[in-house]
Amino acid sequence: MSDKYTPIIGMEVHVELSTESKMFCRCSAVHFQVPPNTHVCPVCLGLPGALPVPNGKAIEDTIKIGLALNCQINTQSKFDRKHYFYPDLPKGYQISQYDQPLCYNGLVTLSNGKRIRITRVHLEEDTGKLKHEKVEGKDVTLIDYNRSGVPLVEIVTEPDLSTAEETKEYLKLIHSTVRFLGVSDADMEKGSMRLEANISLSTDGGLPAYKVEVKNVNSFRYIGAAIDYEIERHKNLLEKGEMPRQETRGWNLGGRKTVSQRSKEEAKDYRYFPEPDIPPLVIEREKVERFKNELPILPSQVIATLVEKGIRLDYAQTVAENQELTKYVLELVELAKENIDRLVGVVINAKEDWHKLSPAELIERVSSKEKEKITDEDQIEMWVKEAISQNSGVVEDYKRGKTNALQFLLGQVMGRSKGRAEAKVVARILLERLT
Ligand code: ZN
Ligand code: MN
Repeated sequence: MSDKYTPIIGMEVHVELSTESKMFCRCSAVHFQVPPNTHVCPVCLGLPGALPVPNGKAIEDTIKIGLALNCQINTQSKFDRKHYFYPDLPKGYQISQYDQPLCYNGLVTLSNGKRIRITRVHLEEDTGKLKHEKVEGKDVTLIDYNRSGVPLVEIVTEPDLSTAEETKEYLKLIHSTVRFLGVSDADMEKGSMRLEANISLSTDGGLPAYKVEVKNVNSFRYIGAAIDYEIERHKNLLEKGEMPRQETRGWNLGGRKTVSQRSKEEAKDYRYFPEPDIPPLVIEREKVERFKNELPILPSQVIATLVEKGIRLDYAQTVAENQELTKYVLELVELAKENIDRLVGVVINAKEDWHKLSPAELIERVSSKEKEKITDEDQIEMWVKEAISQNSGVVEDYKRGKTNALQFLLGQVMGRSKGRAEAKVVARILLERLT
């Protein structure tokens, strides 16, 4: 049954930018653990007559994300209104980008060589936040508009992913990339990075006639679990001759399953049209070129560089999740002449606290440990036993009086200890064992 179906997965990732002010007003964009409805004004409350003014820093940050994901940058861009009704969206529409996103046609390459096309990276505003609480014994829904109007970047892929593993690798790259750029903390616990997967199963290699969207998942592990769950669910339906319903589902943590939420909107339901209160954006080429030249070393490059130096892929991926660690390991790798993979392992597995040692000190520490003589008699005894049992012919020779046979066995033990056993101890134990 597994060969009959090919999972087709596309991702939409929302990342909140960590700008000081909101997207279209001067309110503080800080909304985590802030008294509700204190960072608000007529613009982000959607009051009539209020005029939005775009945040230039947010536009620049979005372009940087696009460049880091190998996108083309539109020289002409604009904002559009995306209409839908929900209490956390006071204007009745979200200012977003429709047909002229800031960035388009990007590319992310996975470790298995697969190329994931980035359809677009666009800029929009976040919504307010609903809170379901009990007030005076009654279940009520409260709305906090502190998050309303916070700059939000949406990164959309083509449906090029096929497994939960690939999806997680892609998402980790996006996560560390925006962090390396310094444009977002991408903290999923706080909702600064939010994941949506579009999933369907193809029976003929082409695009299926349906897709299911899984929303509001806040960890790499759960998105992986949700994808695996959906793949199984669709298989079972298709096997029965049924077509899975086009719908939006949520991840139910308690039940470890996805649950239906609503039927999925089509783009035409949103009645997009250009935002009349904001003039079109003109993006200067020189600025884009400057940003491109100023990009930091990015996680994908870190992984490629380390793997090329002979470091295990999983080590390289772990390093590339942390910018500070990346800086350290790149220096370490530059300095070390040998045993690079081992050294990186020492750092990653916290065998030594790299925060407390310079890369040069770490290399020194590890190599001096390697040079220390081994005097542990139990350990040496074990190597001696091995050498004797695996060289019974030589042992016979020794017993018949061939003294250079002893030299040979000594060499065998030293080899097993990689030259680190204390030779005097080896000789003593060896003689005890042979007589
Ligand atoms: Zn405001
Ligand atoms: Mn969006």
